[in-house]
Amino acid sequence: MTVLSDATLVLPVGVVQGGWVAVSAGEITAVGGPERSRPRDPDVVDLGGRWIVPGFVDLHVHGGGGQDYGGARPDTAGAITALHRAHGTTTSLASLTTAPLDEMVRSAAALADLVDAGTLTGIHAEGPFLSPAHAGEQDPAAMLGPDPDALDRLVRAGRGHLRVLTLAPELPGALELVKRAVEQGVQVAIGHTGASYERTLAAIEAGASLATHLFHAQPGPTQREPGAVGALLEHPDVTVQLIADGVHLHDALLSMVFRLCGAERVALVTDAMAAAGAGDGRYRLGGREVEVRGGVALVEGTGAIAGSTLTQDAALRRTVDAGVPVAEAVTALTSTPARALGLGHRIGALVPGFTADLLVLGPGLEIDGVMVSGAWHRAPR
Ligand SMILES: [Zn+2]
Repeated sequence: MTVLSDATLVLPVGVVQGGWVAVSAGEITAVGGPERSRPRDPDVVDLGGRWIVPGFVDLHVHGGGGQDYGGARPDTAGAITALHRAHGTTTSLASLTTAPLDEMVRSAAALADLVDAGTLTGIHAEGPFLSPAHAGEQDPAAMLGPDPDALDRLVRAGRGHLRVLTLAPELPGALELVKRAVEQGVQVAIGHTGASYERTLAAIEAGASLATHLFHAQPGPTQREPGAVGALLEHPDVTVQLIADGVHLHDALLSMVFRLCGAERVALVTDAMAAAGAGDGRYRLGGREVEVRGGVALVEGTGAIAGSTLTQDAALRRTVDAGVPVAEAVTALTSTPARALGLGHRIGALVPGFTADLLVLGPGLEIDGVMVSGAWHRAPR
């Protein structure tokens, strides 16, 4: 057993100073505050007031460290996961950008192997049923109209590990596809869309439950047309993804969405591409050339903002700097995305019986330690 003592804990009930967490056999076995005597154990790590928070959960990430999940080789995928883990992400989906269907099917099959091997938690297909008019960094030429056979091919290739599908609800046949995906255990996220408010609500009623990077690659609301953004913000059953990098989203909107939706409905994602953790330069994202300058990724020739170079520890700091309380920002990085994945009963909170995925953070919320399933990936100094 390991006991981490004298820590500032972010618990489901709020922030507790002078707390401790006991870990054994890969699980959190007990959690307490200063009033509760901690188990006596030779292996006590005194954290001197530093934070302990649950490990982060990323619902939307394409790559990092110079690599892209689209290639889906075990060594490169392992390197991507390791890069983000060093920045606090202990549970991750791998996001596939829109590509020709055969290529997406091949990538999904390769990623499913990596889920079986424990490298990843699941797969997110960002497309191919998206609106070419709102392609953003995605390749409009590879986009398809909603097609049950194409969906079934992706689901079969994923062997139960395709967890999220992003689609545009205004496409003909999209509502039937939402139902079909949900029936097969795939959560539907609305994104890369120009759908109306009413059409978006219809997709939510059909079973869609997530918003892919809200505000990005979709028109904003106007006084007469709340649009997809209005419906996704409003509906209590929807979890909205935000990219808190100060580039995709203004800090004022970031904190406003927390006030409007509550942290229980906000998932802070990275949407990171290969350049995350790899510096400026030229990269491929899906099939497209992307140039990164000053940490901002732009699609060659279009100037569109591509995926981010964000990591989740930086998203935490940015969100707190935007005025969101630490406990709420942590909720949006941990329990909210864990629940969105149907894993809220075993990850995303410092609760006895949960997997011991946790982070030690310094006073500036920088990563000091990363524990995955009870083993230090990086031990705190
Ligand atoms: Zn993406």
